Parts: sequence; structure tokens; C-alpha cells
Amino acid sequence: MSVHPRPSAGARPPQALRPRHVPQRTCIACRTVQAKRGLVRIVRTPQGRVQVDLTGRAAGRGAYLHRDVGCLAEGLRKGRLAKTLRATLSAEDQAALERSLQEIITVDEQGTARRET
Ligand SMILES: [Zn+2]
Repeated sequence: MSVHPRPSAGARPPQALRPRHVPQRTCIACRTVQAKRGLVRIVRTPQGRVQVDLTGRAAGRGAYLHRDVGCLAEGLRKGRLAKTLRATLSAEDQAALERSLQEIITVDEQGTARRET
């Protein structure tokens, strides 16, 4: 009586060998999934303020947006940011977010320019 050999535990298909895990997040405005580092985290602090979280680890409820003022505007316009954060964004908060994001984008661009030269 022949016994069909069982595949050994080591004989996994190549698909099981995944590349290094890259954390991914969804932009709340355009719903595109992207590597976390291409996005910026917006956090609602325990004090109730909504601000850009440059560390990505600030305490509080977070939402991810592309480093793109268009996505921020979209997120604000449709109320998605407020909804995701379960927060109310004052006009002041919104303006501060726009300024912060613009700064991040500017710094990114300068960094890229420096690397290219
Ligand atoms: Zn986006």
C-alpha cells in the first residue's frame, strides 16, 4: 500500500516569502492606500486640538492624509477629517493644518532638491 507523501512544512510556495512589511495607511480624502511615510498623520490630541503629528506616534486619535494640500482640502470639505477624528475643527484649526502641511511639503521639496544637486 503506497502512502501519498504529504508536503513537508518547508515546501511552501514562493508567494509565502513576502517582501519586508511596509506599513500602509489609507488617505482619508482620496482613499488611496500608500506606504505610511508618504502620508502625514493628523492627530486629535487628548486636549482636543487637531494638529499635524510629525512623529506619527502622538497620543490621540489619528487620521492619515497625503502630503498634498488638495487631499487636506478634500478631507476638510467633505467633513471626513472631522468625522474620522471625531472632532470639531474650527476655522483656526483648519488654517493651522493647512499651514503645517504646506510647511512639510516645502521642506520635502527642499530636501529633494538638495539630494539632486
Ligand atoms: Zn489622498
